Amino acid sequence: MKFSEIIDCHIHPAIDRKTDFCWYHRSGSIRKQFDDLKRAGITKACGSIIVSGKPVSFDVIKHLNDAALSIRDRYPDFYIPGIQIHPDFPDQSCKEIERCCGRHDVKWIGELVGYLMGYENNYTSRNMMQIMRTIAKFNAVVNLHCSDIYVVEKLCKSMPETKFVLAHPWERDVFESRIKAVAQIKNLYLDCSGTGIDRYGMLKKAASIAGRKKLLFGSDYPVNNPAVYIYGALFEKLQENFYKDFFAGNFKKVLEL
Ligand SMILES: [Zn+2]
Repeated sequence: MKFSEIIDCHIHPAIDRKTDFCWYHRSGSIRKQFDDLKRAGITKACGSIIVSGKPVSFDVIKHLNDAALSIRDRYPDFYIPGIQIHPDFPDQSCKEIERCCGRHDVKWIGELVGYLMGYENNYTSRNMMQIMRTIAKFNAVVNLHCSDIYVVEKLCKSMPETKFVLAHPWERDVFESRIKAVAQIKNLYLDCSGTGIDRYGMLKKAASIAGRKKLLFGSDYPVNNPAVYIYGALFEKLQENFYKDFFAGNFKKVLEL
């Protein structure tokens, strides 16, 4: 099967050494990174720029978002920007959402990676909920990395109008609790980047529990080799309609494109 449209919902463009999360080589220019993704068969990619550590000021976050907007200006047909916020700076994060979503038409928040940027699993803290309410005003989608499924469930239930995309299927026990939550919670989706696709049969199992409309294709490039995710998904021999939804249709529906 060949697909004319494959949208990777989970990348992290590298703009310098601090934001480059490829373990084994430098990712190179944005053009080189996008050529890599295209070589794997990806036709569009979405995601935020990430950096390790607690930011000393909100300028650190704003810098990442400005860079994402500038990449979109240069590659409008390929890159869909995701932005970062930070619960240590709730008021500034809300203003940033107003700036990016309100003035620059950003629709995707994240992947939020609290464990990396200094706020592990705190997605329902008071500050975070203030930020989430602003995100909801702009009808933006939140992609988050969270190892505590109870936090994810609480968040989804307290913000029923907002769509949440949980990153990574993960290993067996965690995957089973995640996919059950995705099946049960209307506004929760799963992106199949990161750990999971290499466990043979995972994707079919996920589709059988949560249905084909709740799963999104993602790779977590440049941490991961994107071709592994495409070929791994195709090797499970699911229906053509499944792949059309998984590779592009569900992402476009979630984002209301
Ligand atoms: Zn990621």
